[in-house]
Amino acid sequence: MTERVVIIGSGPAGWSAAIYAARAELSPVVYEGNIGKPELLPLGQLALTTEVENYAGFPAGDLAGFIRTAVDEKRQAYFPIEEERHAVTGPELMNLMRQQALNFGTRAITDEIVSIDLSKRPFTLKPESGDQIEAHTIIIATGARANYLGLESEERFKNRGVSACAVCDGALPRFRDRPLVVVGGGDSAVEEASYLTKFGSVVYMVHRRDQLRASRIMQERAFENEKLEVLWNTVVEEVLGDDENGLTGVRLRSTKDDSLTDYEAGGMFVAIGHTPNTSFLDGQVATNDKGYVVWQKSFRTNTSVEGVFAAGDVADDHYRQAITSAGTGCMAALDAEHYLVERGL
Ligand code: NAP
Repeated sequence: MTERVVIIGSGPAGWSAAIYAARAELSPVVYEGNIGKPELLPLGQLALTTEVENYAGFPAGDLAGFIRTAVDEKRQAYFPIEEERHAVTGPELMNLMRQQALNFGTRAITDEIVSIDLSKRPFTLKPESGDQIEAHTIIIATGARANYLGLESEERFKNRGVSACAVCDGALPRFRDRPLVVVGGGDSAVEEASYLTKFGSVVYMVHRRDQLRASRIMQERAFENEKLEVLWNTVVEEVLGDDENGLTGVRLRSTKDDSLTDYEAGGMFVAIGHTPNTSFLDGQVATNDKGYVVWQKSFRTNTSVEGVFAAGDVADDHYRQAITSAGTGCMAALDAEHYLVERGL
């Protein structure tokens, strides 16, 4: 059997595409990834966040009651439902989206697509563990993942003091009441650094230039926070530590005069941008110089291969918001539907 729509990825783009495709009776399949696999993070990057205050439609309120009635009871064992909070949490929001897609007949497969062949039609897709499948259309919604500095010492202390996700790891005991380092000068770095001031004794933001890239409101937040200090014109030369304690500090280099300074720290959080998850495409779809899938027409989700559409962060190096991802997921489903109708598929 040839599937009409296969959606790869299970973040806001993937599930929104699935909701629209399912309601259009296209019986979509979502490959939602597989815990422990290298690329696709099940439920996307929001699975790694805490509260999501800017997703329209979820003001603070008794969301716990709503979530318990909305999400399949068995599924509720997979994520914590918070009693006290200001907003919906990332895992809650993603499980709500997943449930909504399933309610309309989406089939979710907990597996990862490792390769695809777009050279002939129908397209073929190879999952990591299941049999090869065929599809008339594909929606790529595989998102992006965090970049690291690429230092050998950084690799050595990953998960032992080095992290790329403050909200996932910040509350761990090793980071409490100790100086912490955040690398980067964008919105993510400020967001992570501000969040980490809850736990660390002081948070140093290590930035390679003399100006932040972050938006003005985020910059103001950073400058107003007494526990947050920006170290300008500075880069991480080496992560310091040992086998017993993991990371114990960082060696920083001034980009002005190359001088080196050691800082004691309990953790280093890298917030220097993201890389789109496209390796399984093996160059078959056009990407930009940063590797993001390129839409061929303004405000259409068509990729360079007819019948293949892209939505969410994998095609967006600019907005990268849950709500924009969801919007483009909807667009991709509508574009796929039109493609199928036009060809009588
Ligand atoms: P970003 O805006 O690309 O910023 C990356 C930062 O990392 C930049 O300051 C960059 O320095 C620095 N950097 C990159 N490579 C580096 C390296 N090898 N060594 C040292 N520093 C390096 O990425 P982002 O902060 O993840 O944000 C991405 C997008 O998401 C943005 O559009 C942002 O507005 C959005 N976002 C929004 C929010 C929010 O509104 N709440 C939160 C998070 C993200 P340079 O400045 O020198 O290039």
